[in-house]
Amino acid sequence: MQENDALKELVDEIELLIRYAVPEEEQSMAVDFVHSFHSDHFALRVIREFYTLLPEAREEALVNISVLEGKEQVFLLLLSTAKHHYFYLTNDEEGLLQGEWEQGIEDSHVLSFFGYPDREAFAKEHPLLEGCREYSPLERMNEEICPSCGVQSGEMHTLGCPVEVCPWCGGQLNYCNCRFEQLDVEEMTDEKMLEELEKKLLEKGRITYAKEQRPTFMSE
Ligand SMILES: [Zn+2]
Ligand SMILES: [Zn+2]
Repeated sequence: MQENDALKELVDEIELLIRYAVPEEEQSMAVDFVHSFHSDHFALRVIREFYTLLPEAREEALVNISVLEGKEQVFLLLLSTAKHHYFYLTNDEEGLLQGEWEQGIEDSHVLSFFGYPDREAFAKEHPLLEGCREYSPLERMNEEICPSCGVQSGEMHTLGCPVEVCPWCGGQLNYCNCRFEQLDVEEMTDEKMLEELEKKLLEKGRITYAKEQRPTFMSE
């Protein structure tokens, strides 16, 4: 099957789901949103999943997708309707709703996978809905954009981006131990340590985004 046919089929399928899952007055908005991702296989699959998984009693149009976390081909997204915001965890294969924004992330496996000791730490990192970074069409497919923090090739990652390569060991800066060694501490506990780390990183020379750092994703 041609790529375009596959995408078109996916869009058709979602439109059908929308007819059942969304109140009539919101349907055209829902369909417009789908069409804004008409060649984005990743986003279309997320949208299809959303309408498949949406709690039975809720009939709502999906109007926004934000990217909260990404690591090793696993992404934590926030799927928003006019009234609700759902956490959605996805890899290439499948996705899972993870509860709603107000409750935060409760699954301790999900939290620790992304490096959070608990729900509070996660909430601190993502305090505001308005602060969530919107997913833009095709960004997963655009190699010139960091799949996690969204900067362009050659630009510095947002500090904390899991794709950033550690200049000391060449591993993932978020997950290696260099930050503790550099600061000579057991754990990062306050803002001052973060500033100190940033200073040391700049002295050492931070590694900017390059497409070679991408986790392999959407390899079809
Ligand atoms: Zn990044
Ligand atoms: Zn390191």
